This record gives sequence, C-alpha cells and structure tokens, in this order.
Amino acid sequence: QSPNTKIKMKLEKSLELYTKGKKHLVGAVNSPVRAFKSVGGVPIFIDHAKGSKIVDVDGNEYIDFVLSYGPMILGHRNRVVEKTIEKYLKKGYTFGASTKGEIIMAELVCDAFPGMDKVRFVNSGTEAVLSAIRLARAYTGHNKIIKFSGCYHGHSDALLVAAGSGLATLSLPGSKGVPDEAVKNTLIAEFNNIKSVENHIRKGGVAAVIIEPIAGNMGVIKPDAKFIKQLRELTKDNDVLLIADEVMTGFRSQFGGAQELLGFEADITCLGKVVGGGFPVGAYGARNEIMEMVAPLGGMYQAGTLSGNPIAMACGIATLKELKKQNPYKDFEKTAAFLEREMKSAAKENGIDLQVNRFGSMINPFFTKEKVVDFKSAQTSDTEKFKVFFWKMMEHGVFLPPSQFESWFLATAMTKRDIYKVRSAIKIAMKAVA
Ligand code: PLP
Repeated sequence: QSPNTKIKMKLEKSLELYTKGKKHLVGAVNSPVRAFKSVGGVPIFIDHAKGSKIVDVDGNEYIDFVLSYGPMILGHRNRVVEKTIEKYLKKGYTFGASTKGEIIMAELVCDAFPGMDKVRFVNSGTEAVLSAIRLARAYTGHNKIIKFSGCYHGHSDALLVAAGSGLATLSLPGSKGVPDEAVKNTLIAEFNNIKSVENHIRKGGVAAVIIEPIAGNMGVIKPDAKFIKQLRELTKDNDVLLIADEVMTGFRSQFGGAQELLGFEADITCLGKVVGGGFPVGAYGARNEIMEMVAPLGGMYQAGTLSGNPIAMACGIATLKELKKQNPYKDFEKTAAFLEREMKSAAKENGIDLQVNRFGSMINPFFTKEKVVDFKSAQTSDTEKFKVFFWKMMEHGVFLPPSQFESWFLATAMTKRDIYKVRSAIKIAMKAVA
C-alpha cells in the first residue's frame, strides 16, 4: 500500500509495523486520528524526537507541528524538563499518597487562572471535563448542559454529540454505543451565535455551558470578542455555570490560557495537554465554593489511582516553569502570522481558494472560499486538496495533523531555519494542490 503514488517517501518500516500492528491493535493505533484514515496511505510510526524534530522508523525527519496534539509546547525532550524527570524517576513511580509536587503544581495552575482557588488533578482531558460536568450538576442541582457544535470535550458519553475533531475526520455524526439517555441532557448551540445559547437557557434546567473558548477541534475557529462577553453575561445572569475547556488552550494561548487572552473568567476551567508537558495530566478547578463540593470536602465523588502521579507532576512543573521563563507568546504570534502570509500568497499564486485561521500558537488552513467561523463553514473545506497538501508537506519534512479538522501547533523549539524550511515546503505543496 503506497500512501500516494506521486509521493516519493520511504515508508517501508512504518508499513511493516502498521501491517503487524493491525493484528492486536484496533486499526494498529490507540487513538483513531493516528491511523491517517482521512488522508489515506501509511500512518507513520515514530522512533524518536528531539527539539522541533520528530523521526519515523524509516529515518524520515520532520519538523513537528503535531506535537502530540498540543502538549509538547517546548518541543521534544527539553533539557531542563528531562533532567527533572530523571531525578524524580529515581524516587519511585506512584505511591497512592500525596507528594509535595502536587502542591507546587496546584500553586502554579491556580496562579495562572484567577478563577481557580482550588484544582483537582486527573489523568486526561476527558476525565477533567467529565468531572467538571458532574461538579456543575452537583453545584447547581440541574442536569442540562449546553455544548457547541464542532467543539470536542473528550470521549465521555454525554459529550460525544456534534463533537468535531476525530469524529469529523472520520465523517461520523456521533458515536455508536452512546445511549439516548446519556445525551438527552446535552443541548447543542452554534459557536459564535449567542441566540442559539439563549434559546436553550430560556427553557430552564441548565447546569452549565461548556466551550472551547478558541475552538481547536474543527480546525481553528476564533470566537468573536462580543460573543464571549455575551456568553459570560448570559450565564451569570441565569445562574448557569460557564465551563472553559482549556485542555488545548491552557498555557498555550497565553500562560493563563484563552481566558487571559480573551479577558474573561470561567466558573470552572478544564486543563490537559500542556499542563502535563507530555505526561498524562488533566485538571479541573474553580473558586472555593464550587470546589468544596468535591470529595473529600463535599458529596461529589471523583477519584483516580494515578491522579497527581509524581513523575507527571514533575514533568508538568518543569514544563510550566520553563514556559513562564521563556514567555514565547509574542513570538508564537509572529511565527503564525508569517505562516499565514506564506500560505495565502502561495495559494494565490496557484489560484487556490484558501482561508487561514489562527489564534496564538494554533493555526489551520482550510481549502475553501467561505470564511470559516463555525463547524458548518469548516466542513466546506476541500478535504481532497488537504490530502494532497498534507502528503507533499510530509514528503518535504513537515509533520502536520493528518486531518483537516485538527489544529497545527507551534513549539518554542522551532527555529527560524525550521520555519523557512516550512515556507519552502508550503510553496511546493500548494503547487501540487493546484
Ligand atoms: N477537550 C479538548 C478541548 C481537547 O482538545 C481534548 C483532546 O483533544 C480533550 C478535551 C480530551 O483530552 P484527552 O484526549 O486528554 O482525553
């Protein structure tokens, strides 16, 4: 199986592992997007990574814009982070009792997000969000939740509706195996459309509105400043909690996440990805009166054998401290602006309709004439064109998410030289798309 007959890449060893892997792993992967289903061809298997580069088992080296779907904001194997991990590995892996690292990590997180007095660490973004929903229901005594079409909040039953991301990549409307009862309290609103939220809230019984404040799971969709402001006011006025799912944007859009960038404060914030620096960490937090509902202080139960894992905490602390020190957010903005300009001019030269959406260190091109402001407009992108673009970029040493609906991420380890190399790849790839 060749990825694309016109692509000149050696992928024999990846193909061998893919073929072998399919016997005992579903689709040879442990998360669907890694199977490259929407771009076709052989999914790459990784051997190692360092800094801005990732190397597959055939020895192909790529500048990495996937960054494990976000966590590796410093690039791979940052020296300071790695030294910290090595030190903590020698102390033991998990204890089932608390460690000082959890307290340091909690301080770092609560300092970054003014709306958080207390935080609870879990093992993934999915866990953070499903716990936040349970907490919102416990606190308000209501059951309904409102989510936005195209926003992904992990794979818990109640939230696998109009969920963008991997489902959109596979053209799935939702997930089989989710009972109607599990989603009967999940109401769908449209991103950037306050009326669609108002309509649901007016009917009562709503515990929370959950939003990816910068939507990164249908490509990158920016919120209107007005929309976020109205959403905050509307929820406050109606005693509905606002949950910011900052699993993707936390410590990435700004150190204080999209909330710092957009100037609002959620009632409950969910974190994941960057917060663990590459180890499995998720978190949810809120002001004291809400968090005191959580066991052992209150009656909302949530627990985890590996939650607050000492190695994961050490990695998270080192990553966040390094990020604070480097403060890369202005540079990210400049690099993303450069990439936008380059993609647009290459598209124009080749007569290709292209929209580029970006916000902070998240960027995504859509092959469409239509301005992309929501899930519907995102889906007008020509995914056949994306496929050609994706493989040409791969051939020229740039690893992109193998899906039109996943954001590209920037890392501090990316150098000017890397970015110029990406520019050359973009020029070639756009020509191939035309
Ligand atoms: N929320 C958002 C916004 C995400 O982007 C993701 C994952 O991509 C999740 C939640 C789920 O996180 P995890 O994959 O760590 O369970």
